[in-house]
Amino acid sequence: MSTRASLYVHAPFCRAKCRYCAFFSAPTGSAGPDAPALSRYLSALEAEMNRQAQIFGRVAAPTLFFGGGTPSLLGANALARILAALRQRFDLAPDAEITLEANPDSAAPELLRAARELGVNRLSLGVQSLDDAALKALGRVHTAAQVREAFHAARAAGFANIGLDLIFGLPGQSVEGWLSTLRQAVDLRPEHLSCYGLTIEPGTPLAEDATALAALPDEDCQAEMFLRGSELLEAAGYEHYEISNFAKLSGGVGQRCRHNMSCWRGEDVLAFGPAAVSTMAEETERVRWANPPDLAEWEALVLEGRAGQAGCEALSADIRASEALMLALRTADGLDLNTYAATFGHDLRNTHADLLIQLERAGLTLLDEGRLRLTRAGMLVSNSVIRALGFEFQEISANPENSS
Ligand code: SF4
Repeated sequence: MSTRASLYVHAPFCRAKCRYCAFFSAPTGSAGPDAPALSRYLSALEAEMNRQAQIFGRVAAPTLFFGGGTPSLLGANALARILAALRQRFDLAPDAEITLEANPDSAAPELLRAARELGVNRLSLGVQSLDDAALKALGRVHTAAQVREAFHAARAAGFANIGLDLIFGLPGQSVEGWLSTLRQAVDLRPEHLSCYGLTIEPGTPLAEDATALAALPDEDCQAEMFLRGSELLEAAGYEHYEISNFAKLSGGVGQRCRHNMSCWRGEDVLAFGPAAVSTMAEETERVRWANPPDLAEWEALVLEGRAGQAGCEALSADIRASEALMLALRTADGLDLNTYAATFGHDLRNTHADLLIQLERAGLTLLDEGRLRLTRAGMLVSNSVIRALGFEFQEISANPENSS
């Protein structure tokens, strides 16, 4: 039974739906959630916390992440209520990393000051671009000037750990355009940068926009954005510690996001709110459940005392082994093959000897002191490398079970 887990709270409200977004969120208009909607959400969150505290007890939490949606739209009072409810039921460590995702248009100085006073010590700003035309095309409701205002307001409020989220590969974007965005972002001196390639999600307005789709940079151009962008950030003093994430080096140590690192290490997470996904150890197995991606459905579920009962599955050894491989290979720390063999009973140096040699010869992986890592060229084709190792592993590990 888990006694330690990171905590996650999904805030489901956004002012408007961005044109590329497939995350679950409820558009509220510029005023944000109305009082009755916010009150229902907060009551349901507390009911869900009660239920999970009954099951898992006073879980010790090294990190807490408010994600969304747009958590900064919740406002200071709601944040205070949620933090108080969590602290009442769980042991949030005194040095816990507490992250708030915020959009520049809802990161007002008063909110930022209140968040700091409540113990929030890390801010993750949803920037996406520093080009106003690109922001408009993405359906973002803020400008580049608002990004800078929010960043300086966060510093003034006492945030010493600020991350910026950016997207590259936008319609019409050139390599130089992307590098210019990165240079402007670096000029702000954030502690952390997340740089994701744009994915076209089916069903989003962007996926239906033929003009935008025709203007997408081709694969070679996107690869160059990734490679040159990573080089630029490394030269600016950032550690490339996960395929899409960069942490400012301070005294030789990168200011990595502790919450995400714990997810990438496959550690337990107890998550609250619609669309939130938890993974927890129970008496004899490890289970995962995904809350319904619908506010009313999630509220009904938790108020009926059935939190955690929708979409709950026990994770098989094969799934756990594949996920551990996939998550570790995304990070600069790579996969410790000895630990992996001890945990899952398969030493890839035996089961995948030929493939490992081929990958290294192709310059896609490195094996050093028992750790398997992707090179930067390997990161570009990470899905293929991981799929090759993971799928082959599943076939190998499935055989003994089939034959028994
Ligand atoms: S603010 Fe974030 S979660 Fe909300 S619609 Fe835009 S991309 Fe999606």
